[in-house]
Amino acid sequence: MQQSEVQALANLLKRHRGQATVFTGAGISTESGIPDFRSPGTGLWSHIDPMEYLSVDALYARPHNFWKYFSKVFGPTLDAQPNAGHIALAALENAGYIHTVITQNIDGLHQKAGAKKVLEVHGHLRTVRCNSCGRQYPMKEALAQLPKVPVPRCDDCGHSVRPDVVLFGDMMPPAFTQALQAVEQSQLVLMVGSSLTVSPANTLAFYASHLAIVNRDPTPADGRADVVVHGTAGQVLTAVTEELKL
Ligand code: NAD
Repeated sequence: MQQSEVQALANLLKRHRGQATVFTGAGISTESGIPDFRSPGTGLWSHIDPMEYLSVDALYARPHNFWKYFSKVFGPTLDAQPNAGHIALAALENAGYIHTVITQNIDGLHQKAGAKKVLEVHGHLRTVRCNSCGRQYPMKEALAQLPKVPVPRCDDCGHSVRPDVVLFGDMMPPAFTQALQAVEQSQLVLMVGSSLTVSPANTLAFYASHLAIVNRDPTPADGRADVVVHGTAGQVLTAVTEELKL
């Protein structure tokens, strides 16, 4: 991370104050101990193919395996805490630099850090819903049923439940349309911690009039960004808030 890149990002945020949206991916939460998908060695993709385990097909064709894997991978995430990156973004929102946080993440850490306007385009881990009657329950209650039963069930009607996250093969939720609108109404999109390879969420980068990227590794959109800072989200975003004297 170069100080000149941090200054350039801070200047861009000043120029578009109040007209900027942030888009975050799994990389912003690795400093909270939650593995991302694609980091070599530590990313979930290094061990298994998430498409095989986290898809609508897996949920309905192999529900026992789905829940076993889901609880192992995401159970610990329920107690994760926000890191310096989430806290810096909440500070930028509070100070009026950004108006919306769009996130691919399901961990709820932006809200835990104090962000107010968050669009979760891949859903969230807070709740599950019944596949038959639609009743919602806290995720913690559903996971507490395991492993006594192979698949968590609805207290009311006894049918299986599903997580309120967007699985591979699911339709995108209304939050995705709202995210598109937020990007179209913004002058600047700041992308943080995403490999920008998961479609269609990654297409949001192409609707931005101005684009800034904070990521540890290069992304396919680096070439069209006004500013790129390669570094860890916590360090870079904290440095940006210091530059803006927040
Ligand atoms: P990804 O795994 O494809 O890419 C993560 C990117 O973040 C990589 O390019 C990596 O270089 C970068 N990165 C890792 N640690 C970083 C750090 N500390 N600071 C800055 N950059 C860092 O993630 P994606 O693009 O978000 O796609 C993965 C999909 O899986 C998304 O849909 C995401 O919601 C989901 N997912 C979510 C979580 C979560 O909720 N925390 C965790 C894993 C996967």
